[in-house]
Amino acid sequence: MSTLKAVRGTRDLLPPETALWNRIESTARSVFARYNFGEIRTPVFEDTALFARGVGEETDIVSKEMYTWEDRARAQSEKNLSLTLRPENTAGVVRAYIEHQLGETGQLQKLYYIGPQFRRERPQKGRYRQFSQIGAEVIGPPSSGSESPLRDAEVLEMLATLLDELGITGWTLHINSVGSAADRARYNETLRAALAPVVGQMCEDCQRRAVTNPLRVLDCKVPADQHLIDALPKISDSLDEESQKHFAAVTAALDSAAVPYTRNHRLVRGLDYYTRTTFEFTHGGLGAQNALLGGGRYDGLSEMIGGPKAPGIGFAMGEDRLVLTLLAQLEGSAPLQPKADGYIAPLGESLNAAALALARDLRRQGLWIELGDGAFRLKKSFETADKTARQIVILGEDELQSGILTVKNFSTGLQTKVPRQELAAFLSTPPSDGASE
Ligand code: AMP
Repeated sequence: MSTLKAVRGTRDLLPPETALWNRIESTARSVFARYNFGEIRTPVFEDTALFARGVGEETDIVSKEMYTWEDRARAQSEKNLSLTLRPENTAGVVRAYIEHQLGETGQLQKLYYIGPQFRRERPQKGRYRQFSQIGAEVIGPPSSGSESPLRDAEVLEMLATLLDELGITGWTLHINSVGSAADRARYNETLRAALAPVVGQMCEDCQRRAVTNPLRVLDCKVPADQHLIDALPKISDSLDEESQKHFAAVTAALDSAAVPYTRNHRLVRGLDYYTRTTFEFTHGGLGAQNALLGGGRYDGLSEMIGGPKAPGIGFAMGEDRLVLTLLAQLEGSAPLQPKADGYIAPLGESLNAAALALARDLRRQGLWIELGDGAFRLKKSFETADKTARQIVILGEDELQSGILTVKNFSTGLQTKVPRQELAAFLSTPPSDGASE
């Protein structure tokens, strides 16, 4: 029989790498808490219409990459229900904001999420069909200050802090403004006109985009098209005064907080819901898929999916790419998963039960303990212990009777007799200070 494997573009995450995933998530949670964000968890699948309307029919995500199926209806009311695995989480968060009338509180909603997203993309390094995003949204009625450029700058400053606390060095923040919906419409027309005489020389995707959504031409990565795209009019020249003022206020706040950034005139992002500020953080170590995270303002999204006016700004970071970056940075340094404090080696199967009691006692005092098996010969216990723990605790009949245990520290090679009531303190002491005899 052929063996079954994880589906193309999906993968298993195993220890010790999962220790790094957990470290990233707990750092993110701790930073979000300090900025007063609360966690939201939305369903992994939603009505397809949410993404068609929210993300945009013309985007690559919706037109090519969604995992969509017609649900096998159980009730008449569910007939013809088209469902989709979420390709991103902002639309789901805004749906929940509308559904639970969070805007009625009059307060700014600051929500973060951590979870899997699904896109049928061509798999490559840093690009998977199931991947995990850590994201956040700041959204609320205009009276809550949700349109303020200070919110944009605060989100960007939080991201700079988060990447710094994760230990990711060498990131670059690219920002741009795609203006209001009216600015974008105006710019789309300017682009359409500018593209008309040259589009025949461009790639197939650009030829299609020039008709359906000219803004997306700026995303093109095909080398031969680049000189033509660089010569196109810039969106900054199509921004009205309000959008220009908004963007200037964002950059002034970033300057004041000493957050470094570069203006990238071509950063329009792949999703249709963006207005005004758009941004991306990139990292040189990632190769072709160099975006660590992306985001922007989406002042009209709530209305696009049938909700009240609720301007907002958010981002999504690719957790898989954070892991890749950190793994490359950490190469050769401390192991991802530290060794246990102690390995308990019972000398004979008759001591197994007593060994479990000892392990329980130590674990309940907060120590990391590996429990061996009395069926092992002492040599095998030592070999296993050396791989998994800093110290081995020998539990024989004598030790059980006397209450004095023998502990060997693998890094110093020292063997010490330790009374049982002092064992927890002894095992938890760092190796250099622990070798007293
Ligand atoms: P997007 O909304 O498409 O810009 O996605 C935001 C972030 O999610 C990107 O900057 C990536 O870090 C990450 N991301 C997007 N698609 C994938 C994917 N297929 N595999 C891994 N990470 C992804």
